[in-house]
Amino acid sequence: MGQNNVSLCDRNTSLYLIAAAARQPSGARFKYLGQLAIATAFGLSGGAAFALPDHHELEATLLATPMADGIALQVAAAFPGAPSGTRAYWSVVIRNPADETVGELSGELQLDVAQLTRQQDSWSGADLPAGFYSAELRATAIEPWMQARIRADSVESRVNMALRFAPNGVVVQRWDVPIGAIAAPQMPEFAGLPLAKQRAIDPPGGLPYRIYLANLHSQTNHSDGGGNIATCTSSQGAQNGEFGPADAYAYAMDKGLDVLFTSEHNHYFDGSSGTNSSATPAQANGLYQSGVQAALAHNLANPNFLALYGMEWGVISGGGHLNILGADFLYGWEYNASSQLLAEVFTAKSNYAALYPVLRQNNLIGQFNHPASSGQFVIDGTALAYHPDGDEVMALAEILNTSAFSNNITETETSRTSYESTFNRILERGFHVAPTTNQDNHCANWGMSYTNRTGVLLPSSATLTPTTFLEALRARRIYATMDRSSQVIFTANGQLMGSRLRNHGPLALQVLFASSTGDTVSRVQIQEGVPGRNGTVSTLIESATHSFTPTLGLHFYYAKLTQGDGNLLWSAPIWVEQVAPPGPLLVDGFE
Ligand SMILES: [Zn+2]
Ligand SMILES: [Zn+2]
Repeated sequence: MGQNNVSLCDRNTSLYLIAAAARQPSGARFKYLGQLAIATAFGLSGGAAFALPDHHELEATLLATPMADGIALQVAAAFPGAPSGTRAYWSVVIRNPADETVGELSGELQLDVAQLTRQQDSWSGADLPAGFYSAELRATAIEPWMQARIRADSVESRVNMALRFAPNGVVVQRWDVPIGAIAAPQMPEFAGLPLAKQRAIDPPGGLPYRIYLANLHSQTNHSDGGGNIATCTSSQGAQNGEFGPADAYAYAMDKGLDVLFTSEHNHYFDGSSGTNSSATPAQANGLYQSGVQAALAHNLANPNFLALYGMEWGVISGGGHLNILGADFLYGWEYNASSQLLAEVFTAKSNYAALYPVLRQNNLIGQFNHPASSGQFVIDGTALAYHPDGDEVMALAEILNTSAFSNNITETETSRTSYESTFNRILERGFHVAPTTNQDNHCANWGMSYTNRTGVLLPSSATLTPTTFLEALRARRIYATMDRSSQVIFTANGQLMGSRLRNHGPLALQVLFASSTGDTVSRVQIQEGVPGRNGTVSTLIESATHSFTPTLGLHFYYAKLTQGDGNLLWSAPIWVEQVAPPGPLLVDGFE
């Protein structure tokens, strides 16, 4: 496996809504209205354009695998809802460990309307010095009626023109690729915390926790998931999938997961990706309640597995998806023809300033799902805007997902998207989020498309219940790993990842790693940033242990590990307020 490290991800949303177009400066507005006009001229009504599915967003991923003398590349792309003939244009720039450009590749991909399209390529060089190279993908997609604008003889020129034109935005993904013999860092001795299944094993001294491996993002036929893997290559029609929540819990438990959250699109409970004006509140709320009951029934019968049911709230265009954990009732904004709310609790569409207080009042937990680097979770014109109530509830943010439309059942899906740069931006906004990695399954392969898991630490004395699990999420005792056989534990002055410390004097940071399959670490980075600064997260040091005195003020630190096989792990941050001595040393809890 050669999965690598990211620092950038940029997924701009295409703007098909008049409302969105109307907010653009006049030039851009004409561009988008022009696009609609062209769509109409080609036989699509305006209504059809508005009814594009919620997943209408270009997904482009890069798999960069180290070779002896270079890097093997696989570019994959999908654009749900885009018409036949839509083409993706991509370039990959290779930089050496000194950050000098040493290669550039480009290509065009005819997209399939129904599934991911993949293309292989490779870059090689002679006598490459050992170290971490980077491979940066930039990709865009253009519908057939606009491809006439892309006229040039060479692929390179067409790709450059397309990336400049980019009516659907540019996806950027960057991965670091280890090449050659890289000296392994010194890691402290660590046996590893026991997993949920190893109940007989005593945790190592000082760390009385067990690890529960979770997938905190998936769908079933209560919204647009649950597709039979024999035929599933994309999102399913609303409530048309073959399998529901009870099937999902049984499947994930059978495959060895400890926790599965089925997070149904909240605006699909009326049986439509748009608004079904003939739906009734009883139908929508009844379906949500049946999901809550399915989780409850599964948990009563299976105490060693946790079934969680809830919603993925929001839309992509002009919005941003977030998961809501712990909600007993459906939240929504759609009304039927009789002006009845097709949900239990009204929450205005795409209004995050209004949503966060409601979530806080109801003691719920949120996760930023596949966050785009711009244009999402907007408050007063600012994307990913800080909000004090949002900071209380938004405990999680996805840092890497596998393709939402994968039908892989052998944990070998190669199409993966990193959100690490956006995760960093969320931290710099001031949110206290822990990283998660999930699968966003829409096919009936809940947890099995890849080996990525969100690791959650529960006290070793705790039994696994919704209450104890959500408490662990609130405490941010979390890491994200691409390899479910590996774990990372990060501490500061002996306090666990997720903690908030007030400190004076030295701060001792420590990164612990354990693998049950013999994997090793090729790089350990302690990342640092400042909450509320809106600046850039950087590497404090490449070392598993570090003792120093931070500057006065607010900081956060987290660990990022790269395995010898390229797989990545990220710990939750520790937030430190460094105060002048002789200030008291306090360890704050979360309430
Ligand atoms: Zn979906
Ligand atoms: Zn989503």
